[in-house]
Amino acid sequence: MIVMKFGGTSVGSAEAIRRVGEIVAQGLPRKPAVVVSAVSKVTDRLLDSARRAQRRAATVDELLEPLRATHQQILSELRLPKRLVDPDFARLGEALRGIYLLRELTPRSLDYVVSFGEVCSAKIMAAHLTARGIPARQWTGWEVGVVTDDEHGEANVLDETYTLVKKNLQGELGKRVPVVTGFLGRTRAGQRTTLGRGGSDYSAAVIGRALRAKEIQIWTDVNGIMSCDPRIVADAYTLRTLTFAEAAELAYFGAKVLHPRTVEPAVDVGIPVRIVNTFAPDDAGTLVVKKSQGGTEHVVEGLAVKPGNLLVNVTSMRMLDAEGYLAWVFGVLAKHNVNVDCLATSEVSISLTVDKRYEQQVKEATQELRHYARVTIHRGRSIICVVGEGMRVRPGVAGEVFGVTGREGINVELISQGASELNLTFVVADAHAERALQALHDHFLKAQQPQPLPGAAPPASRRGQQTGAAHSKGRATRKLSVDDST
Ligand code: ASP
Ligand code: MG
Repeated sequence: MIVMKFGGTSVGSAEAIRRVGEIVAQGLPRKPAVVVSAVSKVTDRLLDSARRAQRRAATVDELLEPLRATHQQILSELRLPKRLVDPDFARLGEALRGIYLLRELTPRSLDYVVSFGEVCSAKIMAAHLTARGIPARQWTGWEVGVVTDDEHGEANVLDETYTLVKKNLQGELGKRVPVVTGFLGRTRAGQRTTLGRGGSDYSAAVIGRALRAKEIQIWTDVNGIMSCDPRIVADAYTLRTLTFAEAAELAYFGAKVLHPRTVEPAVDVGIPVRIVNTFAPDDAGTLVVKKSQGGTEHVVEGLAVKPGNLLVNVTSMRMLDAEGYLAWVFGVLAKHNVNVDCLATSEVSISLTVDKRYEQQVKEATQELRHYARVTIHRGRSIICVVGEGMRVRPGVAGEVFGVTGREGINVELISQGASELNLTFVVADAHAERALQALHDHFLKAQQPQPLPGAAPPASRRGQQTGAAHSKGRATRKLSVDDST
């Protein structure tokens, strides 16, 4: 069997849902179970409605109607009965009315409200599949047996889930396509829970693991994880295979394609995860596996960048031969809620990077650090990550990387390589980042570009694709279309 998970934009319109129907039809011989997110933006709108009901910023009808209209519009364009979601909207209305009346919104009631996003999308999808001749049935997360702890909003799946899901769904496979709500579960006491934003990928991984899937497909609106951000490096391409660790390193800087942590339950037991594009289904996408098959031919698999950071240098002779100095510096940073990304130290100095949205906190921490150290802050710095499992075994990669930046005349201000050895990170001025990435891409990645398979569709337009790593929240001017119901 396989799991096919469709994100918010993949179920975001009647047209998209028809495409999904086509994709599921093609996948039928592989006995799929389908997992769906809420219609795109609906989760955010539900969260917002609950909060506005609590503040009495709008009446319940004013909150309910636009959401109902979104779903009814899709239903009518699919020629399905509009009343299909009526019972759900009745229940949602009751919940919002309760919140409005009591002016009280608990994490538990918020989860209850938010759950209707996926409940409705699964219903619509199952009805559409059935109408186009594919027998299907909708299931909620709690109906299939997803049991969680009671951390509402960020719940963790408990082990008994795996047996329950298997018991409930095994017999359905190959007969009726189960269409399961992503993102949702229930506590042992029977309360609805949600698995954290973007949690449908996690649901897909859990269901795939329970049913021993051959593959988990994450259908989204980009062609997979790319070798670099295509808005920076025009000849960036979709990576065919990545290990889980590489995907995690590339995702580190805020990728929205896939948060690797969410598919860990599946990759852990060796189930490959494929990221594929609902709007370019012939593209093979990116396959994420636990271990690379055979020898690693590629030293470097991808490049990631996060622009707009502060580089903070803390220098003090007190650090020489003193224990507890690092603890003191990081204690001060923690006290001011400064979140550190990259770090390098020498005997007398510490260099670190901090996202620029922490600038105020950094300034406050600096006041304190200056009692015992010299502190300089530099704005406009880019973190560049060179990622590849092959770096573990091949010596001289750092030399090559910095040979490239050296030839470009680019000054490198911090270098760090973690214990995993599959990630070489360094910092340059924002103004030099694009040139560094292009030169590194030319040097390491250009020649590795996979040749199109015979008979494969021409590469889809690059618009909307993104690398696993190239998008920090800090870069609003380069907004992407990512598959997300947010
Ligand atoms: N609908 C949920 C969210 O927007 C879960 C998901 O899309 O995976 O976070
Ligand atoms: Mg999503």
